[in-house]
Amino acid sequence: MELSRREFLKLSGAVAGGLMLPGGLSAVALASGYPLHKAVGETPTICCYCAVGCGAIVAAEGDQVVNLEGDPDHPINRGSLCSKGLAMAQLHTVDGEINPRRLQKPMYRRPGASEWEEVEWDWAIEQIAQRVKETRDANFIETDGEGRTVNRLEAIASLGGAALDNEECSLLVKAMRSLGLVYIEHQARI
Ligand code: SF4
Repeated sequence: MELSRREFLKLSGAVAGGLMLPGGLSAVALASGYPLHKAVGETPTICCYCAVGCGAIVAAEGDQVVNLEGDPDHPINRGSLCSKGLAMAQLHTVDGEINPRRLQKPMYRRPGASEWEEVEWDWAIEQIAQRVKETRDANFIETDGEGRTVNRLEAIASLGGAALDNEECSLLVKAMRSLGLVYIEHQARI
């Protein structure tokens, strides 16, 4: 597209003045027939790495994450992210590709095996439930040495992770206490 000097100055002025036309296209974009911006969708999200819960804005084009930055409107982090939060985009996209190292299913290493294998969620959850029940049934302590009721289970311990927030920790502790666990810890205290 050829522009006369007068047309060029008119378009430059429109851009410098921040003139935006309905539909989000600038004067230059309309004049040239090409949009200046890609149709990138931005979505607010919460960092998954720790219970600080920083806010981030993730921009995606199709199924690719093309940008991720701290959310300046989020009351906790006000636009900042630590190094882990900044790397959050890599959970999904690395060098323009879906991250091939991202786990899609639970991994299980059978007793005596040296390799991990993918298993189905239903199988993994059933295994966990079965083993918790077997361990609890075999080790539950109803009374201590002096006959006092204690109803506790010392054969299982629970270790919470940094990604658990207050509400999740509250639910986890209630679930573990209902089983009788006394050894309940959190990664952040270790
Ligand atoms: S890992 Fe970093 S960015 Fe993510 S919530 Fe925690 S402090 Fe915020």
